[in-house]
Amino acid sequence: MAELERPGGRTPVPAGWTYAPAPESRDIVHLRERYGHFIGGEWIEAAETYETISPASEEPLAAVGQATPEEVDRAVAAARTAFADGWSALPGSERAKYLFRIARILQERAREFAVLESLNGGKPIKESRDVDLPLAAAHFFYYAGWADKLEYAFPNRRPKPVGVAGQIIPWNFPLLMLAWKIAPAIACGNTVVLKPAETTPLTALLFCEVLRQAELPPGVVNIVTGDGRTGAAIVEHEGVDKIAFTGSTDVGKAIQRRLAGSGKKLTLELGGKAANIVFDDCALDQAVEGIVNGIYFNQGHVCCAGSRLFAQESIYEPLVEKLKRRLETLRVGDPLDKNTDVGAINSAMQLEKIRELVESGREEGAQIYQPPCTLPEKGYWFTPTVFTDVAQSYRIAQEEIFGPVLSVLTFRTPDEALEKANNTPYGLSAGVWTEKGSRILWMAQRLRAGVVWANTYNRFDPTSPFGGYKESGFGREGGRHGLEPYLRFDE
Ligand code: NDP
Repeated sequence: MAELERPGGRTPVPAGWTYAPAPESRDIVHLRERYGHFIGGEWIEAAETYETISPASEEPLAAVGQATPEEVDRAVAAARTAFADGWSALPGSERAKYLFRIARILQERAREFAVLESLNGGKPIKESRDVDLPLAAAHFFYYAGWADKLEYAFPNRRPKPVGVAGQIIPWNFPLLMLAWKIAPAIACGNTVVLKPAETTPLTALLFCEVLRQAELPPGVVNIVTGDGRTGAAIVEHEGVDKIAFTGSTDVGKAIQRRLAGSGKKLTLELGGKAANIVFDDCALDQAVEGIVNGIYFNQGHVCCAGSRLFAQESIYEPLVEKLKRRLETLRVGDPLDKNTDVGAINSAMQLEKIRELVESGREEGAQIYQPPCTLPEKGYWFTPTVFTDVAQSYRIAQEEIFGPVLSVLTFRTPDEALEKANNTPYGLSAGVWTEKGSRILWMAQRLRAGVVWANTYNRFDPTSPFGGYKESGFGREGGRHGLEPYLRFDE
């Protein structure tokens, strides 16, 4: 047993020991060398392909299709046929059975999906296993429950499916975002053409096997892979009735411009720069855990990440000290190791963006803190980082970094906290830490953010709507609100 470190008055912690490796086996995942597109319930050979890799090792995993406009056209035609041939007219109770089946199969195959998600995306296995997979299954269970109750969800409004939904998702929660998009769409009687992100297509392709196992009628869900060009082809396709997009604000704005006047329905879930506000009466250790979860969960690749920490001045010093100490215990490394807290950055491009913004923070005058940390030689990695002495005008306080980088700012009064928190073009989420219920409610009413967490952070539940204000987009996913974008109402 290693010696105990006994720093003055603090809880003794063992010094100088490390965790033994606890790798999850990859054997459960069987990859093909080459994947095509899943259209009309069949695998279609792709005209062009590209290689998808593991960001933790840069090792190639498989060749996947780069869908051309012609292939997108085939997928939309298959979705249209399935919509007209019966899916839209099927009683809700029948549609629900398919969603329940999909949810149960996802549960049964959860380990396989979790390993593949970590392999292709770089996130720690304990997160894909304990967060992404259970939540993805929960979404299908939840929307299965709504499928035959739409008339009660929207009384006297005669809800009808919209038609073919084009869905474009990002790389930070590949399977979970797929579930957020597909479950409400098909529960409402729509059919779908979905494109996963270029860097993380593999769990979406494995999901096609689940669709076959569940015997979902061919063409109800079609999956095409590719880069932004494929996304643009879906957006522009005349046969698509609704676009649901999650990703960057720039691409979201371009899509909105493209669709203006087209009559297509649109929901956008875009970036964020959330404020995590810590008052001096909070439970400090609990808040430190919430701050760490808020920004280092999923390497900070989270649109609602608590990337701006607002600390009340009276507790600034102990809070920052505790935070730095906690950072030293974060384990960065192999995503497939069950002890890993922070995995690989999703791509070389994203790593470059993080580095560039961190450099701007140093140049503008903020103080950087990074705990001692040995990063693997291959792959894309970034040490968990905290910036103090940050001014509101700095780029690291304004722009979405989408990496494990926290900017700490301070405030004195609730009014000041509120004004600074709302001083952002975004408005997706916020966190408030205080023991006073009245203060939580006062803040929550005034924060311009779609979600406000109180004394917790990054909690998700399919029953709870999620979405943004301002440049974080519009429309809600989850809950009864999440049905609305997939329905039209004939008055
Ligand atoms: P993008 O917005 O480019 O990607 C999101 C999805 O849109 C991907 O499937 C992408 O394909 C696709 N896409 C790209 N261009 C177009 C287009 N013109 N028309 C239709 N679809 C398109 O995000 P990035 O992956 O480039 O990430 C850039 C930044 O965006 C990140 O650094 C981060 O700040 C932010 N981001 C925010 C997310 C959020 O949830 N709020 C999620 C992801 C990123 P492809 O994968 O090929 O690019």
